[in-house]
Amino acid sequence: MDRQPISDYKFLQGGGSMGELIRSYDWSSSLLGKPCDWPNSLKIMVGVMLSSPFPMHITWGPKFIQLYNDGYQPVLGNEKHPLALGRPIYESYPEIWDTIGPMFYGVMDGTPVRFQDFKLYLDRNGTKEECYFDFSYSPIINEQGIIEGVLTNVIETTNRKHSELRTQKMADELAASNEELAASNEELRLTNEELAHANINLEVAHQKVEEGEIALRLAIEAASFGTWYIHSGTREFITDSRLKELFGYLPDEPLTIEQTLEQITEEYRGYVSEKLEAAIYNNGDYDVTYSVIGLHDNRLRWLRAIGNLKADATGDFSAFTGVVMDITDQVQSRISLESAYEQLRLSKEAAQLGFFDLDLNKKTMEWDSRCRELFGISHNEEVNYEKDFVNGLYVEDRKRILDIISDVFIKSISEGIYDVEYRTVGPQDQKLRWVRAKGQVYFDQNKNPIRFIGSVLDITEQKQDEQRKNDFIGMVSHELKTPLTSINGYIQILKNKVNKEEQLINNLLAKANKQTLKMIKMINGFLNVSRLESGKILIEYSHFDLALLFQEIEEEVLTSYPTHRLLFAPVQETWVNADKDKITQVIENLISNAVKYSPLESIIHIACVASDGTAMISVQDFGFGIDSEDLPKLFDRFYRVKTHAFNISGFGIGLYLCSEIINRHHGKLWVKSETGSGSTFYFTLPIAVENSN
Ligand code: ADP
Repeated sequence: MDRQPISDYKFLQGGGSMGELIRSYDWSSSLLGKPCDWPNSLKIMVGVMLSSPFPMHITWGPKFIQLYNDGYQPVLGNEKHPLALGRPIYESYPEIWDTIGPMFYGVMDGTPVRFQDFKLYLDRNGTKEECYFDFSYSPIINEQGIIEGVLTNVIETTNRKHSELRTQKMADELAASNEELAASNEELRLTNEELAHANINLEVAHQKVEEGEIALRLAIEAASFGTWYIHSGTREFITDSRLKELFGYLPDEPLTIEQTLEQITEEYRGYVSEKLEAAIYNNGDYDVTYSVIGLHDNRLRWLRAIGNLKADATGDFSAFTGVVMDITDQVQSRISLESAYEQLRLSKEAAQLGFFDLDLNKKTMEWDSRCRELFGISHNEEVNYEKDFVNGLYVEDRKRILDIISDVFIKSISEGIYDVEYRTVGPQDQKLRWVRAKGQVYFDQNKNPIRFIGSVLDITEQKQDEQRKNDFIGMVSHELKTPLTSINGYIQILKNKVNKEEQLINNLLAKANKQTLKMIKMINGFLNVSRLESGKILIEYSHFDLALLFQEIEEEVLTSYPTHRLLFAPVQETWVNADKDKITQVIENLISNAVKYSPLESIIHIACVASDGTAMISVQDFGFGIDSEDLPKLFDRFYRVKTHAFNISGFGIGLYLCSEIINRHHGKLWVKSETGSGSTFYFTLPIAVENSN
């Protein structure tokens, strides 16, 4: 690189006082780290700077060593000059280095900077000055293209900016005072020459006010508000007809403040009167709700009145105006809601109902204290589905209930209806409780479940009663069965021994035999119920063909029921895996019901068809039929249709046993019926996979 000797200051010719200063010291050591040559690029830039009448400033090298010209001195200020010369810039400008430092580093990395009216607070001439500058920072690049320094061109705009700001402030103040003047000086405006011109505007404004008033009036009318006006000085009271109506007055009847207060019910009268006085004379707030009894119509109304006090321009009195609205409906619905809640609370308490609420969106599960009690939970933390509910279910009921719940969440299967009985076991007390839970799942538009709400009721005692009853029925049936079987045996012996010619005795024995068989059947039914309830009923599976079973049943029932026309449809070979005796019992039960509940000689169709892996058996009669009200309860234990119960003997356990037997075979039993037209009972059984023995 071409270096000039240090003594060669030709490039610093002239340059004013700064030129002299630079020449008189050896800046090269601080600039370049040692007394040596000035780099060409620096020489050129310093030459240009010193010859410029405008403020210019150079920083050199990574330490930003400063050089500047005469024009720059005022920018720097008296205190900092000449100390700044040859010193790093951040020592001269510590107060703004946070702002300009990043810019200098940026320029050294090749990013020039330019600003107009940039505001800086400089420590200058002994004070902190708010200053404005137009400036640019440009990189000084040597012959090798390396950035060695920063050249600052600066013009201070503080004075101009300050005068601009002052002007702006004055303009603002002027505008503000103009506005004030325009708003407040009504009289002056009236006398003003321009008034004539402004009159038109005034009229427009007037019209706007009128329009506003009309809109307000319409709104008041639409909302059926009553309105009033009270003169604070004279207590003159002006009301509209709606207000009179709300107080049970006729539209053209005069009404005073005192008269309105008179209609307010006693419990609110004092309160409203106090509020009214406070509002008129002490500018208190006025938003009151009270009840009134109409003068002529004696109607109880709930009213809400809101008022506003406004001083008159004369300053002598105030106008207290406001509206009254009829909120009777809202209050009454609130009252009925509250009483409904109260009733609900009371009935919940009386019935000792527990409540649960599962919010699937919020993923929360809430149980009230009774519900927790029924699950034997003593903690007060949030309940957990797995930990508290699933684990709290008695192990034998768990799968059944969880299966039902998963169906409840599918709208197409269950419509969200949940009604179950199950046992719970308290985690701490290990107490077994029977509960009945009823609930409803709510779905969104896409049929996704969103909420599951319901109640639980303790039915432990009821269940225990039932259990005792069952045990009793079981015990009695058991005790009766042995003597009956013996009697039946004796009848058989007698039948064999008696002379065939003894017609009467033979007939009586046949009747006795029939009656004992009936009784044995009945007692077997009770025993089965009792076994079923105590979970002792056993399904003994075997592989058999329904076609053969139907043949056997046909032979049997045709002789038993000569009173009716039993028609068996042909049955295809259909193999099932089931308890043959119990399925026989179901079919025979349905046939005997069809006979029992239909007229003599009427037809009964019996069929068995197979499709889609299921065998469907049906028994159709053309008898009395069943009312739709009875249908849902038909398979309940001991349920009998009232009209039948009068004339036809029975206990209401046959269908209950049938449905339990079919359920245990994973089949379904149902009925279609219409009063007067007859009934068809259906049940299904899964067909066995292999049709072989
Ligand atoms: P039971 O016949 O002993 O009363 P079930 O349990 O077999 O008991 O039947 C319950 C009730 O259902 C009967 O009392 C009767 O009212 C009604 N029912 C059953 N089958 C028929 C039918 N085929 N037609 C009309 N009603 C029927």
